Amino acid sequence: MTIAIIGAGLGGLALARVLHVNGMDSVVYERESSRGARGQGGMLDIHSGRRALREAGLLDGFHAIARGEGQDMRLLEPDGTLLLQDTPDDAPLDRPEVDRADLRDLLLDSLPEDTVRWGHEFTSAGDGRLDFADGGGASYDLLVGADGANSRVRALLTDARPAHIGQNVVEVGIPDIDRTHPDLAAMVGRGNYWVLGDGISLAAQRNGDGRVRIGISFYNTAEDWFATSGIPFDDPAAGRARLNDLLSGWDPRFTALIAACDDTIVPRSITALPVGLTWPSTPGVTLLGDAAHLMPPVGEGANMALLDGALLGLALAARPDDFPTAVAEYEHEMFERTGAAARMSARMKDMLMSPGAARKMLAFFQPDGA
Ligand SMILES: Cc1cc2nc3c(=O)[nH]c(=O)nc-3n(C[C@H](O)[C@H](O)[C@H](O)COP(=O)(O)OP(=O)(O)OC[C@H]3O[C@@H](n4cnc5c(N)ncnc54)[C@H](O)[C@@H]3O)c2cc1C
Repeated sequence: MTIAIIGAGLGGLALARVLHVNGMDSVVYERESSRGARGQGGMLDIHSGRRALREAGLLDGFHAIARGEGQDMRLLEPDGTLLLQDTPDDAPLDRPEVDRADLRDLLLDSLPEDTVRWGHEFTSAGDGRLDFADGGGASYDLLVGADGANSRVRALLTDARPAHIGQNVVEVGIPDIDRTHPDLAAMVGRGNYWVLGDGISLAAQRNGDGRVRIGISFYNTAEDWFATSGIPFDDPAAGRARLNDLLSGWDPRFTALIAACDDTIVPRSITALPVGLTWPSTPGVTLLGDAAHLMPPVGEGANMALLDGALLGLALAARPDDFPTAVAEYEHEMFERTGAAARMSARMKDMLMSPGAARKMLAFFQPDGA
């Protein structure tokens, strides 16, 4: 039986790896031309996804690349009031942060060399045959769409499409912050630094390579907001100045953070699939990860994608002669688990978007007022 996985992201690779450790082959078709073709972004907070890494036999490798100190967290209000400073030295690997590229490399390096076929962009499928953008094709018995937020495989199972959630993010960053801006480095700390205002948040995060990535979110904004925001993305210096205008009234320490950024300035419009999306189980095709349940970005998506991949792999390994039943069982569990995660993510997003978000977040972290 040929298992074709579309997409070499975290979910697709976790599936391929768990199949491999259970003695089953698969092929991963990835549209990128190589593992380094595109930057993989920043740090991921891995918690429930650790079970997937254990099933994949990669927990030791994960601990070797994880950054326990990345769990440090500071929560502030725009006037500079520090609401919470958490340095969980007593639980160094409870929710460690890991560089996404390092985690993807760990998974890639754990697979037989010919498992991932780079430069294969999936376009369509039917009757056990896949088509690629370059005119090539391949056969399959089971097709797994692990092709992320804008999945093309998804259309084989549902008409649902991601919709804008009223959040637009501008990503900027400070390279090598310890050397270039030690004062700002001390202010941000070793992990996450959040400033939550009404309708705007600033989330800074230290990456393993010494870069601090900063996302400024504008809430309750329309899908075309970037066009009217006045942020000139083709002129980074003017873009930073405009961002600081939009943060007028915020403590000068926060605007200093933005003034120190380099010329990378990226707009990101945030979308999500309907919460609790399901589809009738269909022999021969299924989905995992963002393709199945794209959620607001509050720290669940990568964990769910890893778990989906591992649990689908285990289900197929348990029923190698009955893939349709294995897929139906996987989907049943996946819909329950990821539906709960999507509801939690939507509540968190609503909290971030609402007035008084910083104090609400403080109460979330310290429900007993400790
Ligand atoms: C800024 C940001 C921060 C985040 N932080 C966290 C966090 O801290 N914790 C957390 O749990 N989640 C986080 N997430 C969410 C997480 O990144 C995603 O949920 C996760 O990467 C989904 O994994 P995936 O394997 O489903 O998809 P992806 O990682 O998107 O992989 C999909 C793969 O499919 C390939 N592909 C797409 N189309 C095709 C095609 N037609 N043919 C072939 N290949 C194709 C893509 O090139 C890609 O390699 C964050 C997201 C963002 C944007």
